[in-house]
This record gives sequence, structure tokens and C-alpha cells, in this order.
Amino acid sequence: MLPETTNGFTPQALDWYQGILSRFPGEHRRKSKTDADVICPVHDDHNPSLGVDLRQNEVGPKVVLNCRSQGCEYAAILGAIGLTDADLKFNGEVSVTSYGCTLEAYAASKNLPLEFLTGDDVALEDGTCYVKALGRKVPAVEIPYADQNGEQVATRYRISPSGDDKFRWEKGSKTILYGLHKLEEVHDTGYVLLVEGESESTNGRLGVPWGGVVWSLPIRTTSPSTPSG
Ligand SMILES: [Zn+2]
Repeated sequence: MLPETTNGFTPQALDWYQGILSRFPGEHRRKSKTDADVICPVHDDHNPSLGVDLRQNEVGPKVVLNCRSQGCEYAAILGAIGLTDADLKFNGEVSVTSYGCTLEAYAASKNLPLEFLTGDDVALEDGTCYVKALGRKVPAVEIPYADQNGEQVATRYRISPSGDDKFRWEKGSKTILYGLHKLEEVHDTGYVLLVEGESESTNGRLGVPWGGVVWSLPIRTTSPSTPSG
């Protein structure tokens, strides 16, 4: 029996790892669900000495190769089994992100009251959004972007509470500052906090003029005043 531990890897990542392992001919010595020694395809190996292990790096699951017997070149090992470096990185965007986000899940993940998020100022709604990678719609939180007059001019969808792939813009939406409908309040107060992302702009700052900046916007060209406090 293999140990049950999967070190936090998803079943998809483990399946993928299995597929990489199957590229190596000959004897496999399986040590766990994420660790195996196989016959090194580069040197004359009779006792499985090439470690083929599933590891987590900063961008995701990756297979690590290590010839413990002769220290064979990484590139030579890859060449021998007909794979490239990119093949050893799990491209699991679709499988590791759990798509679909409801208002309830969003509120819970941000620790913000549902009544606040659905109130006039923030006005989030439950909706759906098409995710191309899945080929279907998923539950999504609709985040309205209003102009200075309070007219909704763009919509952004939160399609996942966590992971790398969390947002979609509605087709045709122009990227603008979030919270422009609060501009009058900003003028009255004389300052504004510019933060990254919609949730940050509301999080814990009730009663303070808020505006969120989508991270890719250059702040200095859009800042109406120097943030203070
Ligand atoms: Zn070797």
C-alpha cells in the first residue's frame, strides 16, 4: 500500500504525474503517491536510480528529476523520453482553480457582511459568467463599476474565491477606477485611499472614502490627490 498522503496535490495533478511516470520504461520503484525511482534512460541503469518526484513550486506542481547514480543531465533525460521542460510543469489552471463564486462564498472569504456587499454603495449581485477554458458558465459575483454619476459603465465578474484565475471583465468593459461614484465624497473629505482590488477598497474601511485600483493601472496618472493617513 502506498501512503495515503498526497501533500495537498489535487487528483488531477496526481493523474498528470502518473502520466509523466509512464513515459519511463522499465522497472518503477514507487515510494509514495508523489515519489518514484525509475530506470534512468541516459546511463546504463539496472537498479532504478532516477528520482521522478512530484513537487510544489511557487507556480504549481512540477516533476523533479534527479539521477542519483550518475548525475545525468536534466536535458539528456528529457530528450531520452521525448519531453520538454514545459512538459514537467503541471498546466492545471482549469483543474486546480475551483471555478464558481457566489455572493455568500465571497462574503465569507472576505469576512464582510452580506448586507454591506449587496447595499447601494457596493451593489454586488449573484450572476453567471462564461469561462472559456471550461466551455460553460459558472456562478459568479457581479461587481458593477460606476462612473462619477453613479451610472454603471462596466462589470467585472469574480469567478473564483481563490486561485490564480479569479476575474473576468464583461465583454466591452473599459477598465476604470473602481468607486468613481464616491468621487464627491472624496472631494468633500479631501483624500482618498487607493488600494488594489475591489474587495480591498471596501474591506474594513466603512465610512472612509474608498476607491479601488485594478492592479495594472498606473496609480500616479489616476490619483486625484495624495493619499494621507
Ligand atoms: Zn542517469
